[in-house]
Amino acid sequence: MSLCRPKPVPAGAPSADASREVLARYAKDYPAGPHDQPQSMCPAFGSLRVGLRMRRTATVLSGSACCVYGLTFTSHFYGAKRTVGYVPFNSETLVTGKLFEDIREAVFKLADPALYDAIVVTNLCVPTASGVPLRLLPKQIDGVRIVGIDVPGFGVPTHAEAKDVLAGAMLKYAREEAEQGPVQAPRGGRGEKPTVTLLGEMFPADPVGIGMLLEPLGLATGPVVPTREWRELYAALDCAAVAAIHPFYAASIREFETAGRPVVASAPVGHDGTADWLESIGRACNVETARVDAAKAKWLPAIRAALQAAPIRGRITLSGYEGSELLVARLLVESGADVRYVGTACGRTAWSDPDREWLAARGVHVQYRASLEQDLAAFREFEPDLAIGTTPVVQKAKESRTPALYFTNLISARPLMGVAGAGSLAQVVNAALSNRERFQQMEDFFGGVGTGDAAGVWEDRPAEHPEYRAAYRRKLEKAAKAKKTEEPV
Ligand code: SF4
Repeated sequence: MSLCRPKPVPAGAPSADASREVLARYAKDYPAGPHDQPQSMCPAFGSLRVGLRMRRTATVLSGSACCVYGLTFTSHFYGAKRTVGYVPFNSETLVTGKLFEDIREAVFKLADPALYDAIVVTNLCVPTASGVPLRLLPKQIDGVRIVGIDVPGFGVPTHAEAKDVLAGAMLKYAREEAEQGPVQAPRGGRGEKPTVTLLGEMFPADPVGIGMLLEPLGLATGPVVPTREWRELYAALDCAAVAAIHPFYAASIREFETAGRPVVASAPVGHDGTADWLESIGRACNVETARVDAAKAKWLPAIRAALQAAPIRGRITLSGYEGSELLVARLLVESGADVRYVGTACGRTAWSDPDREWLAARGVHVQYRASLEQDLAAFREFEPDLAIGTTPVVQKAKESRTPALYFTNLISARPLMGVAGAGSLAQVVNAALSNRERFQQMEDFFGGVGTGDAAGVWEDRPAEHPEYRAAYRRKLEKAAKAKKTEEPV
């Protein structure tokens, strides 16, 4: 997708202060890394997907047509079956404020309480930079809640963190509603046991597995945030504790803390992770030690046995942008893998500290806000038997005859927690590890076909033109020399 660099709102413009305030909050919630632009997909994809997955929720984008085209294409590619609303603009409607009026009109037309609980309006890069004031939209129209968010590529570094932008905005809205008076009960009614809300999207079997772990503690799992419908937000807030399974949900955690809910770091992955997590949950929910010990005695031997039954042998580097990279690395290490490097596109927060410390104590280098360059440098340095990573990392590894797995498609799509998670990675990882010979055969077969500037389909063998390269190099050197002489002394 294109990544434009729009000009920030000029100081003194009516919406400049509000816009600056939003960007300052993002800078605090999602501190930037070595690169100031996202290196993966458009961040707004994250929040768009969260909205599209919610029942009775309409989504409207405001941004450049090319961005909206890319975002709708990607969301439908990933199975969204819902319409994405779009309010187009041009320079005139942007500058005169007519765009805001157009958005307002679209929201009024869309707000049918028979169809929707909420409408999410998202400012993409250009309207955010221009300060289109979504906060001035009505808070609700005929009972349909209006949630306006800014998700610019220059303020939200990853699509994972954009999920938090929307989840946090919705939790804030729901918290304020709950403070005003009674709210809708959960669809299946309120359970008897105190609940633990799970923060972060996870494999559908994981909340079930976590529920089994919590059962001896007298607790149950609450909703997973981001939720699948509005009323779940109230149930999520109405919990005994929040498990920050994915550690980057800064805005959501702020809402839970404002609601007085304790937040627990890390997740029940592997033997050690599950033991520590059960203790932390027990402390946060005031569960007596004997019950925590009983839960540990019940689950830890089963987890250890599952890990031992599915060993992984091989050197692995791992990188991704989902936010669960450290958890996966823990599981791999406990399965016997020699993990050397974990890169995550997400920033460092206190909620992944136990995982970072555990991994560091075992000699694993953890890189937050990892850039593609850092992931590739780790691949070169550690020469792994298997690289787990994003598309460009996997591509590079395969070119170097090294087996590789896509983190998002193949690793995230598996249970990681509790007993079901222990050993679940072994099948896919071991199958990939045993593929090295096939990569070597493939490279021998295809030789140098399709690499470098000779890539593509040619009628004849591509001719080398070293003289063009030499001429271009001379041109660049000349331009660099001219630039230097123009520089003030
Ligand atoms: S909204 Fe921003 S980050 Fe997203 S595609 Fe458009 S320019 Fe790129």
